[in-house]
Amino acid sequence: MIDSHCHLADPAFDSDRADVLLRARTAGVETVVCVADGVEASQRCLELAESHRAVTDAAPQLAATAGLHPHHAADFDDATASALERLLSDPRVVAVGETGLDYHYDRSPRETQRAAFAWHLAQAAALGKPVIVHAREADDDTAHLLMEAPAGLTGVLHCFSAGRPVLEAALARGLCVSWSGMITFRNWDAEWAVEAVPGDRLLIETDAPYLAPVPHRGKRNEPAFVAATAARLAELRGTTPELVAELTAANARRLFRLGSLD
Ligand SMILES: [Zn+2]
Repeated sequence: MIDSHCHLADPAFDSDRADVLLRARTAGVETVVCVADGVEASQRCLELAESHRAVTDAAPQLAATAGLHPHHAADFDDATASALERLLSDPRVVAVGETGLDYHYDRSPRETQRAAFAWHLAQAAALGKPVIVHAREADDDTAHLLMEAPAGLTGVLHCFSAGRPVLEAALARGLCVSWSGMITFRNWDAEWAVEAVPGDRLLIETDAPYLAPVPHRGKRNEPAFVAATAARLAELRGTTPELVAELTAANARRLFRLGSLD
């Protein structure tokens, strides 16, 4: 399996990151995509991937992203943009993000969220790297900005929990859709969306340390728990966890070009 979205650089893992990775390996996780939420985190993700590679070539491998989370869009200025540009041009950085819009928490003004999101979309298209999109309670603006983004965009709608307009825009732009532990929650109700995504666009993720799936709900999440999401996705699509694991790993390898990391 590939955990396509994990905040492995988060301080929540500082005390036992090596054990977390060992458990991921035992669970059958081949790669963890370490997703950044700001300039410092982007730097940490890159360092983490590099130092991990230096000590082992055993699974899971780590891949790094660079970007600014919509919660921090208020920090988006020229200095941030040039720091991110420098990180994004690094061939070891596999994706742009996470970026997007979050009108649920509204931690940054919506206008700066939109400007930062549009900037990330343009970078992704220009660099030919996939964008990682966070969309929460901002359906119309997310769909609009996705449709307006430059040609050549690839990417993923992560931890899908948005409405139809966002799903339709993402699919129209050729994006993948990634499912988190949320699909294991009892009150989750987006079966319609699982059915709407073609098999070659499906990814799975943990979004760890957040959103631990059932039966780990309420605990710190970690990459090994992506197996619970694979199992639930298999149930929803009438297939086996093994086939879901194989399919989503192949999709993630292709999207993030993981074979070319060495
Ligand atoms: Zn995230």
